[in-house]
Amino acid sequence: MDMRIDAARVESILELARGTDGKRLDSILDRAEALKGLSPEDTAALLATDSPRHIERMFRIAGRIKEAIYGERVVMFAPLYVSDHCVNKCEYCGYSCGNKFTRRRLTMEEIRAEAEILERMGHKRLALEAGEDPVNCPIEYILEAIGAIYGMKVGSGEIRRVNVNIAATTEENYRKLHETGIGTYILFQETYHEPTYTRLHQSGPKKDFNYHLTAFDRAMRSGIDDVGGGVLFGLYDWRFEVLALMLHNRHLDETFGAGFHTISMPRLCQAQGMDMSSYRVLSDGDFKRVVSAVRIAVPYTGMIISTRESPAMRKELIKLGVSQISGGSSVEVGGYASRENGGEQFEVAYSRPALDVIRWLMDEDLVPSFCTACYRRGRTGDRFMSLAKSGNIKNVCLPNALMTLCEYMMDYGDDSFRTQADALIHKNLAKIENAVMRELTRENIEKIKRGGRDLFV
Ligand code: SF4
Repeated sequence: MDMRIDAARVESILELARGTDGKRLDSILDRAEALKGLSPEDTAALLATDSPRHIERMFRIAGRIKEAIYGERVVMFAPLYVSDHCVNKCEYCGYSCGNKFTRRRLTMEEIRAEAEILERMGHKRLALEAGEDPVNCPIEYILEAIGAIYGMKVGSGEIRRVNVNIAATTEENYRKLHETGIGTYILFQETYHEPTYTRLHQSGPKKDFNYHLTAFDRAMRSGIDDVGGGVLFGLYDWRFEVLALMLHNRHLDETFGAGFHTISMPRLCQAQGMDMSSYRVLSDGDFKRVVSAVRIAVPYTGMIISTRESPAMRKELIKLGVSQISGGSSVEVGGYASRENGGEQFEVAYSRPALDVIRWLMDEDLVPSFCTACYRRGRTGDRFMSLAKSGNIKNVCLPNALMTLCEYMMDYGDDSFRTQADALIHKNLAKIENAVMRELTRENIEKIKRGGRDLFV
């Protein structure tokens, strides 16, 4: 049976959780330390508490889980917006068909040019993004765009993984997407609260709550192994959204053997034509609770934030469990080329954001990673989840992070960057627990320094 949200059940779990006493919270948190995840009921109890002691403990446990499963690596990606044509009227989105502006869809040549710029920033992993418009942006266009990106080579680099964030579609279209070799299929539910969803989506195919909600069922039936969910925090009550996300994750796990590969954590921000005063903007403190509760509830799911979060907030959220961030992002169609063509001032600005994020991560003693290994080794869906749940994912994540950082420093770093990155690589090599893997990584790093590329485990 496809995904359904029983709002009354979600409300009743949240209601019951309101009375959770300190002793039960302690026992839930004791269990959380075992890295086995939590039931929706236990997650609801963590979301309900206002006890500063328990919230602090949640933060500490979320940080320890992040450390134990992912170590210091933070995976980098960049969004690539190819079309802002959209037939939906979504109140919170700048692409809404209610907003009047000149819309565009990139030609294949322009897509290659954007991907080339991103490759020259060092990116290997893109998230292809497009509005929904069956006439101006049909599935054939998206398939051709993915092919154009995968077919591109810049010097010794190329884009190695294209994740796709397009509107809910048919099984047939998902099958076609799967056949092009996409990484993760990403779709935000926006809100799991149906009355809110219906109010915010006034017209267009996206208005159909159940069609949107069951998109991952169709995608996974069509062969797509890795799906990435998310909600736009601020549209409705955050406790309801987190719990519904967890129920969705459980449904996918029970039905297809793998829950969400990633969960994106966007916070609502101002878009064209939108009145922010009518939304429930999430405070920094509540957002930290959301991130840590998700990290504890689904320890093996990648968690993504955008660089729209301030550096101070990013730092805190990474400590609480975020494992992927975008770097140097543009959220405009053709945004990378227009930055580059904007004259010298812009040229500096365009190259800076990705490098800034990478340097910032290294300054924080974190390891920026351009890894795409799991997908290319066939570690997707339930195969990925079983490796993650065995606790062994760290044994491949850190080596791959170090090898891709070495590649980045050789291809894109100046002398000072290489000095800093090389020191970080050597410090972290010593942290690879498995001796055989440590030695293999050391050898591969030497090979990369001598010109080898695209080495991974
Ligand atoms: S090894 Fe797999 S899980 Fe780890 S960063 Fe690479 S692709 Fe992701």
